[in-house]
Amino acid sequence: MAESAEKTVKRIPVVRSLKLSPDGATGVFLGRHCKNCGEYFMGAPIFCLKCSASDFEPVELSRQGVLRTYTVIYVPPPGWLGSVPYILGSVELPEGVDILTEVIDLPKEKIKIGMKMEMVLRVGGKDAEGNEIMVYKWRPAP
Ligand SMILES: [Zn+2]
Repeated sequence: MAESAEKTVKRIPVVRSLKLSPDGATGVFLGRHCKNCGEYFMGAPIFCLKCSASDFEPVELSRQGVLRTYTVIYVPPPGWLGSVPYILGSVELPEGVDILTEVIDLPKEKIKIGMKMEMVLRVGGKDAEGNEIMVYKWRPAP
């Protein structure tokens, strides 16, 4: 393997609840499962939002789910680097967790409620050291 004088660019997740593979090309959502009532959450809540218990176990959530609702954004927030208009979709995972983010690789004319979607990662920007910040997106599942 040839050594390069270039600085190694790392890939880092945009949120702590996203765990990247060693090469940063894929990832999973990290969540919590309430041992008291069975509810699942993305991230690491301190108390269960359903039953108020605080006894959780860490879980890796599904990477696929079903599109529950969406909207088309014509006026993006400040700093948006993607194309406009774009689709913002809410996908429900089998665990019952809803995750809202951009839908890619799909013309807006073809989007349908109930479509199976999968999570994919894209480079969303760079930090001060030039590391790639990986963001999650939905795209139609194969
Ligand atoms: Zn609970």
